[in-house]
Amino acid sequence: MSPAAGTPVPQDPHSSVEPPRVGGSPSVGTPRRPQRTCVACRRTRDKQDLIRLARVGGDIAVDWDQDAPGRGSSLCPDLDCVDRATARDAARLRASLRGGTVDQVLRALTDIRTHLESAQHSKEHNA
Ligand SMILES: [Zn+2]
Repeated sequence: MSPAAGTPVPQDPHSSVEPPRVGGSPSVGTPRRPQRTCVACRRTRDKQDLIRLARVGGDIAVDWDQDAPGRGSSLCPDLDCVDRATARDAARLRASLRGGTVDQVLRALTDIRTHLESAQHSKEHNA
């Protein structure tokens, strides 16, 4: 009846207690991956699967490395979502970023579109 030694302890699926935030440095190896909501389709996905927009100084830019400090908003790396992000979404994005202009948001969206289109393009060529 004794469990085998060295059996990994299963993670408690009922654990709903948030670990206390330790100020500053991001903890490494957190069991739960951070989730973000796409501003266009409102789907929740892993943060790493989304493209992040961040306010950098007075500008809004695509945070490709997801490491820009401050506020950010996320979007699926999906042309459908980029296309779906209308001027109204841009205004909402701008509001959640607490700065910048709708034009800056739209320009960042254009950057994402260009990136996605070229990625799609090279995929077709490499296939
Ligand atoms: Zn989306």
